Amino acid sequence: MLKSLIMKVQNQNENDNSQKIRLSGLDKKGLEDLMDAMDEKKFRASQVFSWLYTKSAKSFDEMSDIKKELREKLKEIAIITDVKIKTKQISTDGTLKYLLEYNDGNTAECVLMRFDNRANLTACVSSQIGCAMGCKFCATGQRGIIRNLEPYEILEQILTIQRDTGLKVTNVVFMGQGEPFNNYNNMMRAIELINTCLTIGIRRITVSTCGIVPKIYDIANENLVPTLAISLHAPNTELRAQIMPVEKRYNINDLKTALKFYTEKTGKRVTIEYILIGKLNDTKDCAVELAHFMKDLKCNVNLIPYNPVNTKDSFKKPDKKDIMKFKYILEASGKKVTVRLERGADIDAACGQLKGRIEEQI
Ligand code: SAH
Ligand code: SF4
Repeated sequence: MLKSLIMKVQNQNENDNSQKIRLSGLDKKGLEDLMDAMDEKKFRASQVFSWLYTKSAKSFDEMSDIKKELREKLKEIAIITDVKIKTKQISTDGTLKYLLEYNDGNTAECVLMRFDNRANLTACVSSQIGCAMGCKFCATGQRGIIRNLEPYEILEQILTIQRDTGLKVTNVVFMGQGEPFNNYNNMMRAIELINTCLTIGIRRITVSTCGIVPKIYDIANENLVPTLAISLHAPNTELRAQIMPVEKRYNINDLKTALKFYTEKTGKRVTIEYILIGKLNDTKDCAVELAHFMKDLKCNVNLIPYNPVNTKDSFKKPDKKDIMKFKYILEASGKKVTVRLERGADIDAACGQLKGRIEEQI
């Protein structure tokens, strides 16, 4: 199969990349099969693997320890990637935001967050083009779903950042566009590739979901279990249903049962994400109710001040003093609480915003 594909590509115009074999996304075994079909020795696969994933090579010419003849042969039949950087924004706080263009012209964003006081470099990746879940406060949710991303298209977001910056990403969060659990199989394969090809430990990979309950059970039963973050955003079913349509399908009580299963099965703590929307869910009563909800759950809390986006509903940012009060009440209940720093505020680095702006310009 692979051999006939190679022959087919060889007979094409060398400048036509459309039919060439894409190396990005091939694991060790995939590269070994390719070398085998090219009648090359097996160890060449390890060399190519290292150039692709450890050294984040942009071109075959960089692969200096691979003999010229093989590099030329590779150029003839293969490409490293077909994903392009469409735009790149740099924030004054060092956050980088990329809009990537895939080979069908669709775009998705990824963000690199640097924290000055830590060696961590966290990539925030998208799992879908758009999202079907329709959360009222979310720019992506307002536009609906276009398609799922392939495993290599998710991996490419991290590789693109590494190629462009020359830096090594240390942590990955699935908190860009899309609902990862609606693209479960591709997400799991991407996690496997991130773990094995980019050698990012599974404890450094976090998946954020709006609460697709059956998939929480599924992921708890996987061999490779990432950290789970849950977009809760409200302490009771009435308020949650107002801002998150998913509540009508999988309610907060079933969600909690699933989260308890996850923590007990895996021994891991979950992160409860809670967007604070001014005067809507940031009140003292909400904080008390949330503390009660989390009482018997092994979790930390991440409070996210609402980032204004263009939606039909007129949500407001929370007041600073309400954020602090909310945080205090949760801390008093014994939970570890962080308030998400506003990263890249000057470049619209929140969920779905860069893409929205570009589409508005068009
Ligand atoms: N679909 C998944 C992951 C992507 S959204 C999920 O919902 O968890 C990533 C995070 O960004 C979620 O916690 C989401 O609620 C948050 N988010 C979306 N719109 C936001 C906004 N306008 N301000 C602040 N956070 C937002
Ligand atoms: Fe989708 Fe997450 Fe946005 Fe909700 S918050 S619409 S689940 S991307």
